[in-house]
Amino acid sequence: MAESHGIVIVGGGICGLATALALHRKGIASLVLEKSRVLRAEGAGIGIQANGWRTLEQLGVAAELRKTADLITTYQDVWLQGSKSTRDRYPVRTEFRCLNRKYLIEALAKELPAGAIRFGCRITAVHADTDGHGAVLTMADGTTMKAKVLIGCDGGTNSVVARYLGLPPIRTIPRPVLRGFTSYPHGHPFETEFLRLRVGDFFIGRLTITDNLVHFFITMAKPVTDAWLKNSDLRVVRDHMLKVMEDQQCPAEIIEVVRQSDPESLNLVRDFWYRPPWEVALRGFQKGAVTVAGDSMHAMGPFIGQGGSAGLEDAVVLARSLARAVGGAAAGEEKMIGEAIGAYVRERRLRLTLLSLESFIMGVLLVRSPSPVVKLACVAVLVLLGSRSLRHANFDCGRL
Ligand SMILES: Cc1cc2nc3c(=O)[nH]c(=O)nc-3n(C[C@H](O)[C@H](O)[C@H](O)COP(=O)(O)OP(=O)(O)OC[C@H]3O[C@@H](n4cnc5c(N)ncnc54)[C@H](O)[C@@H]3O)c2cc1C
Repeated sequence: MAESHGIVIVGGGICGLATALALHRKGIASLVLEKSRVLRAEGAGIGIQANGWRTLEQLGVAAELRKTADLITTYQDVWLQGSKSTRDRYPVRTEFRCLNRKYLIEALAKELPAGAIRFGCRITAVHADTDGHGAVLTMADGTTMKAKVLIGCDGGTNSVVARYLGLPPIRTIPRPVLRGFTSYPHGHPFETEFLRLRVGDFFIGRLTITDNLVHFFITMAKPVTDAWLKNSDLRVVRDHMLKVMEDQQCPAEIIEVVRQSDPESLNLVRDFWYRPPWEVALRGFQKGAVTVAGDSMHAMGPFIGQGGSAGLEDAVVLARSLARAVGGAAAGEEKMIGEAIGAYVRERRLRLTLLSLESFIMGVLLVRSPSPVVKLACVAVLVLLGSRSLRHANFDCGRL
């Protein structure tokens, strides 16, 4: 006999845990199935803007997380190309902080009831439940589980739930991103800013977290095929990157941040992954009582730093929608759940399409070396989307 559950969430990343917590706050139980044996929080820091903070407020974890990260008050964009340089500074007008991903994941998980997350549970396949509206999940050990409602939060790269929904595989662009933390026991010398530096082939970001902690990321405009990138020791990768950074005359100040980084905090992704905006606009994200949220639905690359916050918004909207249906009249519950998921997908569609479009265009500008005409068209769309004013970051998905 297959085990049977009400709401099952595949994936215990930011979005899966936030969805479980949002449901819990609405008095609805769910089970998170996570393939890792422990909570996973890879990637050092994550920038959370006002829209993300609003959802964390709704989830009841914002106050605790604010204590771990100071406000970022300024954006500084610096472009160094040979002897030419441009520098642009502007204030951050809404709440923006860089969180340690570990603290975010832990804050979400710790609010869940005991037993709400099952670790070491890798789902290998999803099938329609022939007896009802939901789905039957097959685990890596061959056991099966029935879910009345199934929410795929199993990430962008290989989501089994997205596959079940017939969504095309996520696209990838081969570009390495190295991320990490650097500690300054006696205080760092930087302003509370998000520095975005373009120099040679590099894009480098530096975000202050507290007086003593800084997060950085380094990525490149061109694919890198060198063997050092495949080294599993990330100190070796970092040291090679530092050498290339020196060769390309990156400023000494940023080189020191990377050189002094904590080796344990280093994280490398070798590709950007994204779902193109036209798929987000047009594809079906629902089959009966099965849907997706977070990167499985709308992976958007790191170009506007909104993937995580968009997943938090999904969690709030989905839980709010489901809360109207779950526990409804037994005879009509299945239909109501299907309608609630449909309402969630409809509510999210425009917001996610615009975010994905903005991120996609930034990606074209940053990594694809477009022709002047394409560049002009991209800039025009960004102006229409209000990218410079960071309109996307001020979005409010409403109360839970
Ligand atoms: C370089 C980089 C920088 C970024 N910077 C930012 C930023 O500053 N701000 C921001 O908001 N976003 C940022 N993002 C995006 C953000 O990291 C993602 O959007 C977010 O982590 C996605 O969360 P998720 O829960 O949807 O997916 P994931 O974090 O991928 O979690 C998926 C979970 O599902 C589990 N899983 C997968 N398959 C299975 C399976 N078959 N069975 C069971 N479990 C499974 C995985 O183990 C994992 O725990 C960045 C992304 C990158 C790559």
